[in-house]
Amino acid sequence: MATETAATLTERPSTDGLHQQLFIDGEWEPAADGGTYEITDPGTGATIGAVARGGEQDAARAVAAARRAFDEGGWPLLTPRERGRILLAAAALMREHAEELAQLESLDVGKPITFSRIVDAPTAAETFEYYGSLAAGIEGAARPVGADTLSYTRREPYGVVAAITPFNFPMILSATKVAPALAAGNTVVHKPAEETPMSALRVAELLQEAGVPAGVYNLVTGGPEAGAALVRDRRVDMVAFTGSTAVGREVARLGGETLKRVMVELGGKSANIVFADADLEGAIQTAIQAVVFNTGQFCLAGSRLLIQRPIYDQVVAGISAALPHVPVGDPFAPDTVIGPMAGPKHVAKVNSFVDAAIAEGVEAVGRDRELPSEGQYVAPTLLPGVSPSASYVQQEIFGPVIAAMPFDTEEEAVALANSTDYGLAAGLQTADLRRAHRTAAALRAGIVWVNTWGRMDVAVPFGGYNQSGYGRENGPEGLDEYLHTKSIVVAL
Ligand code: NAD
Repeated sequence: MATETAATLTERPSTDGLHQQLFIDGEWEPAADGGTYEITDPGTGATIGAVARGGEQDAARAVAAARRAFDEGGWPLLTPRERGRILLAAAALMREHAEELAQLESLDVGKPITFSRIVDAPTAAETFEYYGSLAAGIEGAARPVGADTLSYTRREPYGVVAAITPFNFPMILSATKVAPALAAGNTVVHKPAEETPMSALRVAELLQEAGVPAGVYNLVTGGPEAGAALVRDRRVDMVAFTGSTAVGREVARLGGETLKRVMVELGGKSANIVFADADLEGAIQTAIQAVVFNTGQFCLAGSRLLIQRPIYDQVVAGISAALPHVPVGDPFAPDTVIGPMAGPKHVAKVNSFVDAAIAEGVEAVGRDRELPSEGQYVAPTLLPGVSPSASYVQQEIFGPVIAAMPFDTEEEAVALANSTDYGLAAGLQTADLRRAHRTAAALRAGIVWVNTWGRMDVAVPFGGYNQSGYGRENGPEGLDEYLHTKSIVVAL
């Protein structure tokens, strides 16, 4: 177990050479008012940089640049294949610099370096490869409507896209917006999460090096003011947002004022159903993995565990035995599975939910383990025997906490699984093929896993039902989001 920070702390990567300003119209520049703010390493609390705090004026400048690049520049007029070639060049640079990007992401977010290396950096590059290749398939269709008429469709970009991204998967979730938006011919103003902007700064440099023209991709670091200014701006045609349901609702409302297209990818409280016929050892491992990945700061976390009654005690005992041994520690130690949370406010939120459960008489299994003395750590925790209506069962905790409860029948499991406001993901563990498909169809969620959890691919779309938002990312659906369809009807 990697709990001794002193022994596991390795040398941190340096951010000295990294531009930490706004990237507007192909130039690095300070915020209009000169404001900056510090970024810290969640593993140590040390300052790792000071980035520009973009505000309203900066958002307006970036939108003006993106607008010019769209209206007067050549980006939307390139063939999709030509744009795709530039995205593929960007992907190649991201592959070339994958180790550097992985280290930067771990430093900024506190992600275990093992996962940044095998998940974050390669997936971000792969997303650019996927949409770089898919661009070639952007085409309209001729529709036979009669001998005296020619009717066809064109797929056209919306114009300026504001991409607003969250703190938990900065590089991947930026790529899932920026790559398809650019492939479709839009120009972009990107506002990364206030606390984790580092990888976006480096990727902006790589996009420029790959040949993305000035003004086509712009980066405004900063907080909610910069994000809200982008959403309000009439010159922005579309907002692609990933974040919390509360902020997403505000973004949809603000975006509605100018009737811009808004896509919102929001929070989750996903149910993982374990049926009595499941492979128990596998189901226990899957249940743990579903909630410890990314320290539980995972919109698709399997945070509600529904266990069929005959195996309930066995599954709870199995998780209780294994959870305290999942290595928690320094993100740069190679054996770490659970790193620090991205910041103190996230630790406080997790603790407040677990404290509420304890106050209601729920046992918090695993909570008393020893944690590294510095950094933003929480213990992975199992809350067994919870009431389905409790706050920690209904609301997103966004940390490594499993709320477990029993069920008797398949119908009850489906009803329980569908009983929160969210609908992002769901999963079921069973050996019964018919039940697997029947249950998967009945679950109100954008992605359903059977006998696994969290398996993703850039070709597989995901997105929300209910209060988890609307729109789809990844797959061809993720490109469609950024394209208008225009019909042209010609009298012959
Ligand atoms: P958040 O909602 O606090 O912030 C998201 C982004 O919105 C940040 O860039 C933030 O600066 C910006 N923002 C804040 N207020 C704004 C406003 N009024 N107008 C415009 N922009 C504003 O989310 P977070 O804490 O960074 O991320 C965690 C949340 O994101 C969780 O709820 C998680 O479930 C969700 N999430 C969802 C998905 C998904 O695909 N559905 C993926 C990852 C994370």
